[in-house]
Amino acid sequence: MGVDAGAIHRGAIMTGTGTRVVLTACAKTFPDGTRALRPTDLVVEPGEILALLGPSGCGKTTLLRLIAGLDRPDTGGAIAFDDDDVIGIPIERRSVGMVFQSYALFPNMNVRANVGYGLKIQGVPRAAREERVNAVLSLCRLNDLADRPVTALSGGQRQRVAVARAVAPQPRVLLLDEPLSALDAALRDRLRDELAQLLRTLSITAVFVTHDQTEAMAIADRVAVMREGVVEQADAPERLYRSPANGFVAAFVGGANPLAGRIEDDRLVTPAGTLRLPRRAAEGATVFVRPEAVTICAPDAAPLVGQVQVRTFLGTHYRLGIAGFGPDPLNVHVSASDAPGPGQQVGLDVDPDRLFVFDP
Ligand code: ADP
Ligand code: MG
Repeated sequence: MGVDAGAIHRGAIMTGTGTRVVLTACAKTFPDGTRALRPTDLVVEPGEILALLGPSGCGKTTLLRLIAGLDRPDTGGAIAFDDDDVIGIPIERRSVGMVFQSYALFPNMNVRANVGYGLKIQGVPRAAREERVNAVLSLCRLNDLADRPVTALSGGQRQRVAVARAVAPQPRVLLLDEPLSALDAALRDRLRDELAQLLRTLSITAVFVTHDQTEAMAIADRVAVMREGVVEQADAPERLYRSPANGFVAAFVGGANPLAGRIEDDRLVTPAGTLRLPRRAAEGATVFVRPEAVTICAPDAAPLVGQVQVRTFLGTHYRLGIAGFGPDPLNVHVSASDAPGPGQQVGLDVDPDRLFVFDP
């Protein structure tokens, strides 16, 4: 996607440098007693793209709805856009733009009318409205499609219209709830990069919900990993991957394996053999290893020995499921040229520095 430098410039001018969003002690308990969100502190920096990542039901949409003003946090929670307390401000006056999974475009309107809708509702005079719509259409590379009905657009074009419509009224914050999950896999891969680029072009503070780690890592500056109503860690993708805060984050981002076993000082005694740890650890500490951090070697000289149970060819590498480590097979990635097959005994080793040790 070619991005027009003039459009970027106009985008920065139109949307300013972005709004800081600060949530303090925000929790949400629904009337039926469901505690969808535990007390949460979270800051989204001006112009930052933050992903809320976690399994279904962990509270991502709940958190997004609190920022949007579609729901109110429990008593004691505070939400500020820059220095403005927005708790009492309903969605229509909070200056947020929203993009939903289905895009929810108005099917009976063309692209231009969809994009201009919010400005019209706000009562923006015609001349100013047209100017703004034209600028946003150009920013989102929709000029040539302006007069098309939205029913005659591809998935990628619809996504751009949905984002254009949401940002046209110059919201302070753009909120997106699973914008890619209704698409098929091939289209999703392509639109992921497009969306990442478009959001950067707009230089607007954005919070975007997904359950897909690849999507979160590809689009966001920072990813907040959630579990059961708690933000477990909010960090840049590289940091999440290299220094996960706990076993849940290690497993959810990058699929680290838990290693069952007993800690003895700086060793982990597993059912498959003994591994050296990077440091002494306390009893009850948990140890995780990424599939790509395990090396396969000859069984006789290896610290661990297991048996290949399944081998899946994934193009760039094989994924092996190796038995002998407890109830679940150990997931290991090996290069596509030298993968052992099912039934084979294999030796395994892990550089201690590539183990994650989490204290109890
Ligand atoms: P996610 O977006 O991460 O899939 P949600 O934020 O939608 O999760 O939901 C978090 C939890 O709150 C879930 O257990 C869900 O069933 C529950 N929940 C969501 N909305 C309501 C509601 N209006 N009333 C009661 N429980 C709700
Ligand atoms: Mg959701």
